[in-house]
Amino acid sequence: MTKNKIIEEIRKLSDLLSLYQNAYYLKNKPLVSDLEYDRLFDSLLLLEQENPELVLPNSPSSRVGSDLSRDIPEVSHTIPVLSLDKGYSVESIRDWMDKTISKAGSDLSFIVEEKIDGVSIVLYYKKGILELAATRGNGSIGNDITANVRTIKSVPLRLSEAVDIVVRGEIFLPLAEFEKLNSLQEVPFANPRNLTAGTLRRKKSIDVASVPLDIFIYEGFMDKNEMDHVEILQYLKKLGFRVSDNIGVFSPSTPKIKIDPTWFSGNFDSLSTYVEKQTTERKNLPYEIDGLVIKVNETDVRDTLGFTGHHPRWAIAYKFESPVGTTIVKEIDIQVGRTGRITPVARVEPVLIGGSTISNVTLHNQDYINLLELALGDTVSVSKRGDVIPAVERVIDKNEDNNSVWQMPGVCPSCNSDLINKGAHLFCTNSECPDQIKAGIFFFLGKNQMDIDNFGPETAEFLIDQGFIKRIPDIYTFNYNNLEGFPGFGSKKIKLITAGVQQSLNQPYRRVLPSLGIPELGKKAVELLITAGFRDIDDLITIAAEKDTEKLVEIKGIGERTAEIIITEFSSSKTLELIDNLKNAGLIFTEEEISKEDMLPQVFEGQIWCITGSFENFKPRSLAGDEITSRGGKTTTSVTGKTTHLLAGESAGSKLTKAQKLGTTIITEDIFMEMLNTND
Ligand code: NAD
Repeated sequence: MTKNKIIEEIRKLSDLLSLYQNAYYLKNKPLVSDLEYDRLFDSLLLLEQENPELVLPNSPSSRVGSDLSRDIPEVSHTIPVLSLDKGYSVESIRDWMDKTISKAGSDLSFIVEEKIDGVSIVLYYKKGILELAATRGNGSIGNDITANVRTIKSVPLRLSEAVDIVVRGEIFLPLAEFEKLNSLQEVPFANPRNLTAGTLRRKKSIDVASVPLDIFIYEGFMDKNEMDHVEILQYLKKLGFRVSDNIGVFSPSTPKIKIDPTWFSGNFDSLSTYVEKQTTERKNLPYEIDGLVIKVNETDVRDTLGFTGHHPRWAIAYKFESPVGTTIVKEIDIQVGRTGRITPVARVEPVLIGGSTISNVTLHNQDYINLLELALGDTVSVSKRGDVIPAVERVIDKNEDNNSVWQMPGVCPSCNSDLINKGAHLFCTNSECPDQIKAGIFFFLGKNQMDIDNFGPETAEFLIDQGFIKRIPDIYTFNYNNLEGFPGFGSKKIKLITAGVQQSLNQPYRRVLPSLGIPELGKKAVELLITAGFRDIDDLITIAAEKDTEKLVEIKGIGERTAEIIITEFSSSKTLELIDNLKNAGLIFTEEEISKEDMLPQVFEGQIWCITGSFENFKPRSLAGDEITSRGGKTTTSVTGKTTHLLAGESAGSKLTKAQKLGTTIITEDIFMEMLNTND
């Protein structure tokens, strides 16, 4: 490459990375995957290492990706709050350890921690009282989000000792909670990290309190500190902080220091086995980690090693690689969601990635397609982000047919209506759009909604395509005996479908209302409304008629947006007609107050249950949690000394081992079913 070309490439990469940082840190809507971001970042690093004289003064490699927002008060940090250097193989980590030991000129121990995939936070305590919680910001100035952080139950407001201490940690949303909350979002978040970041920036702390965020603390800073990192971690626990138990301590010889009995301890040769084990067990954790962090234990050596503008020299992140495959984009189809959102989906040559065959990959929106410069026939690299959701990372080879970048149509492919822009997405606003109605029917029937027995997606598709079911209420008025004679619909099947539909009439109001698919009115919001006394659909219709937004906003957890949507929706003749028709069909639109006698026996009272693995009878797994809480028990996401029971399903992993170690009562699904049946 000529020098001019290199200058141009460095500028292009720096600009692109700055654009991606802005979308990721400030808008919580990443434009590319982390894998692609890291690839570009590493390309920039390589060019800069080869041409140090060409490094731009404000290069993304010499500063922290900033999440500083002008809309939230700013505060100065008293410690450098930086990012981490990265490695992708155990060899590169061992190299870094060797170099660090030789720089220090003495033997060192290294601590390996989980790299929690959440939002970085700094907590400042004075005399043991939480005074300030600030975001990482640009590394020296952060945003003051104390009021929001105070709502997180695992953040101690008062420590067990009256010390002055600054701690760094990561706020995250447990996976089970993310799945629950995200299923209610009109435009779902790509991952728990983005939902966490969005929540922490909310204006009303009461809205933050309704999201069960959690925290792990991993660093503590005090004046005149004489402790090494392992001792600090143990001290942090003693002070009342939540510290992850998955910690490895690696020393050239057996460590002299006392470590927590649940931690792993070994010599440098055992590092690769430890990393391998953490990598495989990652899928069993109740929260997301995107790697491991390897840190020098000796704090005096840390002081000598110091920092770059981007990261400390005494720590490095080992990043997990997402599984990747290469395939060809054959078609791009448009999906119209129940809210009218238009989503382009790439139909690719089936490709095996991380153990499953991928043939459909979402492309999100036109911006994403433009960034990829994606055209039909292109060869692309596809990854499974967080090992689950397939994503197109980049175009590897352009197509030979001269196809240019694919463009979204101007009108809805289902009803030909004009599309409008809302944020980064296009929407079809025609409420009569056949695809929207179809998606609404699928949503109503879905596993997390009415979940009608023997009425799977194929049956629904067939009935809709035949024109037997045009709207949700038709599910209850159609005479299923008319299916006699259609292939696949024998009299036994017809009986089962009819019985399933009939049984679904018993579903309680708290399940019926969220199934209607009204934006913002998911399970959580409906629970809040019922608890606040809105026990009947007529209560909502009345409040909408009175346009009393205030009364709704008074309910803890109901924001202005939700309140406004309730008013609009329950004033709309379409919604009212749907409710009338479903009422006439016999669905329940009122919630009886449960008297003490009718309550389930509170047999799990005082017990703390953790749930792991997969279950035959509880899909999603959170349904098992509902059974426990409705009988007075509490649930937790990790096994600790306080956990009384572990409900262990198929492929239970590290939690099972830990429960066995701690002597926690282990309950299989069969026994659990028996417990539920005998106690009801
Ligand atoms: P990072 O997230 O890779 O690592 C640094 C952070 O790790 C720290 O700030 C800290 O908050 C966190 N962390 C979690 N557990 C920790 C522990 N035990 N000890 C120390 N730190 C711990 O770096 P970053 O600068 O926050 O972000 C860069 C990364 O973010 C990129 O590598 C990429 O994956 C992602 N990113 C993605 C995009 C995108 O568009 N997809 C854009 C910007 C950044």
